[in-house]
Amino acid sequence: MYRKSLTALSKSGAVAEINPHRVHDFCRPAVANYAFSTMKKIALATIIAGLVATSSATASAVPLVGGGGLTPNARALAQYITATYPGVRSIGGVRPDSRPDHPSGRALDIMIGSDMGLGDAINADIQSQAGRFGVEYTMWRVASHFDHIHVTVG
Ligand SMILES: [Zn+2]
Repeated sequence: MYRKSLTALSKSGAVAEINPHRVHDFCRPAVANYAFSTMKKIALATIIAGLVATSSATASAVPLVGGGGLTPNARALAQYITATYPGVRSIGGVRPDSRPDHPSGRALDIMIGSDMGLGDAINADIQSQAGRFGVEYTMWRVASHFDHIHVTVG
């Protein structure tokens, strides 16, 4: 996220303002240094404000519903998904169900909306790290599992 926002800021023109050649175009040499210094401070303040806003928005970007009562593996997987895939809509954990996976805190539903590419990437990533998170199985692109990936961990 930090890298993305820095790139966006540099394209927005905030960074371009600290270009000394541009300052020199419309400032006399005697004031160029002062103007450059002031503009640099303003540009830095703009960048820092943008980063603070981005990081506080990122902290709550993926809601976790039913996080209380998750097993350690399920909790670790939920934290990993939240940190790695900010495009995830939400993650569902503990809830009543006819099957034991969700009530026991061993299952997550990772909601991806209609972004099937994101679902494909997450499903492949989870399967490739099955050992790390104790993954027993995932359900993706099967009946009723086109808008979320179901994961059961041990
Ligand atoms: Zn599920």
